[in-house]
Amino acid sequence: MAKNAFLGKVYLIGAGPGDPGLMTLKGRDLIAKADCLVYDALAAPVMLTWAKSECEKIYVGKRSGNHALPQSDINALLVECASRHACVVRLKGGDPYVFGRGGEEAQALQTAGVAFEVVPGVTSAIAGPACAGIPVTHRDYCTQFTVFTGHEGANKEESTLDISGIATAQGTKVMLMGMSRLRETLEALMQAGQGSDVPAAAVQWAATGRQKMVSATVATLADAVETAGISSPAVVVIGDVVKLAPQLDWRSKLPLCGKRVVVTRTREQASELSGMLETLGADVIELPTIRVAPPSDKRDFAEAVVDAPHYDWLIFSSPNGVRRFFQAFFAVYEDIREIGGARIAAVGPGTAAELKKFGLMVDVMPQKAVAEELIAEFDRKGEEFGGVANVTMLWVHGEQARRVIYDELMKRQAIVDECLAYSTVPETEDVSGAQTRLREEGADVITFTSSSTVRHFMSMKLPLPEGCRIASIGPVTTATLAEFGLKPDVEAEAHTIPSLVEAIRKLK
Ligand code: SAH
Repeated sequence: MAKNAFLGKVYLIGAGPGDPGLMTLKGRDLIAKADCLVYDALAAPVMLTWAKSECEKIYVGKRSGNHALPQSDINALLVECASRHACVVRLKGGDPYVFGRGGEEAQALQTAGVAFEVVPGVTSAIAGPACAGIPVTHRDYCTQFTVFTGHEGANKEESTLDISGIATAQGTKVMLMGMSRLRETLEALMQAGQGSDVPAAAVQWAATGRQKMVSATVATLADAVETAGISSPAVVVIGDVVKLAPQLDWRSKLPLCGKRVVVTRTREQASELSGMLETLGADVIELPTIRVAPPSDKRDFAEAVVDAPHYDWLIFSSPNGVRRFFQAFFAVYEDIREIGGARIAAVGPGTAAELKKFGLMVDVMPQKAVAEELIAEFDRKGEEFGGVANVTMLWVHGEQARRVIYDELMKRQAIVDECLAYSTVPETEDVSGAQTRLREEGADVITFTSSSTVRHFMSMKLPLPEGCRIASIGPVTTATLAEFGLKPDVEAEAHTIPSLVEAIRKLK
C-alpha cells in the first residue's frame, strides 16, 4: 500500500502510572487534539475528558469477565483508525515501551506504512516504588537495577525468563505483572540463589489514592501479600532500598490518604473536585449521577443560536448552557464579535466565569446563583440599561430549569425567547465501574454538590455504604438531603468546591 494512503498519524503515548498529573505535557496536548483515542484499563479515566467531545474513544482493555482485544486486533485497529482520522492517540499505561507491547504496535504501524510517534511516559517500574518511598537506586545500597516481567512465570518449559540471571544480579530488582504467580516466581528465584532475607515489597495501584503497599522479605512476601489482600496491578521490589520506605514514604502522609471519597457531579464537571481531593491523597470514585445530553429539539436550539446576534440581551442560567451555546455558536460563526452588541446576564459567578473563558464580561449578575436573585438584580440595575420593557432577550438554559426567569421578565414586559441548550438526564452507564466499586468496596465520604445530584443518586438505588459520611455543598443541597431523611455530617461554609474540600479535610 502506498504510504500516503493514510490520512493520519498515530501517537503511542505513555499515560504514566495512575496519577493523571504524571502524564507528559506533550501527551496531554495530543489527547486534546486527538480525533480518535484507543485506550485500555490502566489509563486514568479523567484523561478521556481531556479529549474533544467529538473524539472517537475506543476501549481495548479487559472488560469484567472478558479478555482484552487480542494484540493482533489492536494492531489492525490502529492501522484502520489512521485511515479514517488525522490524529490517533494510542494511550498506554506507564511507558508505552515497557512491557506494554508498544513495540509491537509501532512495528505494525511501520509495516503498514502509517506514520507514528512515541511519547514516552513515567513507568510504574520506577514511579511505583518511588510513590511508596522506595528509590530504585541509592548510592548506599546499589549501583544498578533490573526490571523484569513475572507474567511468564518460572516454569522452565514455558518461560523465557532468565531466573538465575535475575536471582544473582546485583542491585534492585523490580517485577511487573508478577502477582498471579508471585509465590512460584519468588521460590524459583530463591532456588536460583536469590537471598531469601533480602527486603522485598509490593505496591498496588501506585501513584493513585488506592495505593497499598506491604513490605517483607523475599521469603515472606507472598504470605504478606496474601494477608494484605494485595493483587494486580502491583509492582514488586526486591533489594535493600526497600529499607528506606518507612523513612521516605511521603504519600501516606497526605491528609486524605486512605479515604475513599465519592464525587457525584457530571463527568464534565467532576474534575475540579476530584483533582483537589486526589492532590490531598484521597481515593476518588467518580460516580456521575447525571449527564448533560443534547436538547430534545436540536433544530430549535440551532436556530436560536443562529439568531442570537439579534437580541438586546443574552441571559445564561448555567455554565453548561454557556458551554453548549458557544459550542453551537462557533459551529456557525467564526468570530466572537458576531455575537453583536448584546448585553449579557449570568445567574451567578460560576456562569460568569464560564463566559469569561470566551472573553465575555457580564452586565448583570447576582452574587448568589439563584433565579430570583437575578430578577432582583435586574430590578436594581435594569434602569442603568434603560429598563427591560420591550427589550428582546434570549434566555439560554437547560430543559429542566425553573420558569422563574421567563415568567418574571415577561411580567416586566420584556420580550423573552428561549434557547434550550441541553437537558440533564440520569447517568445510566457505569463505564468506569464506579457503581460496582462503591457497592463492593464502600466509601468513607460521599459528596453532594447540588440538589439534583442528591435526587439522582437516590434514584439510582445504590446502597449508602455503612459508616459513609455525607458532605454537602450548602443549605439548598442539605434541604434536599433532608427530603430523603439524610443529614450531612458536614456542610461547606462558603458553598464552593474549595470550601467543600476544606470541610472534608476537617472531618475526623
Ligand atoms: N507500560 C507499563 C507496564 C505495563 S505492564 C509501565 O511502564 O508501567 C502492567 C503492569 O504494570 C502491571 O501488572 C503492574 O505490575 C504494573 N503497573 C502499572 N501501573 C501500576 C500502578 N499504578 N501500580 C502498580 N503497578 C502498576
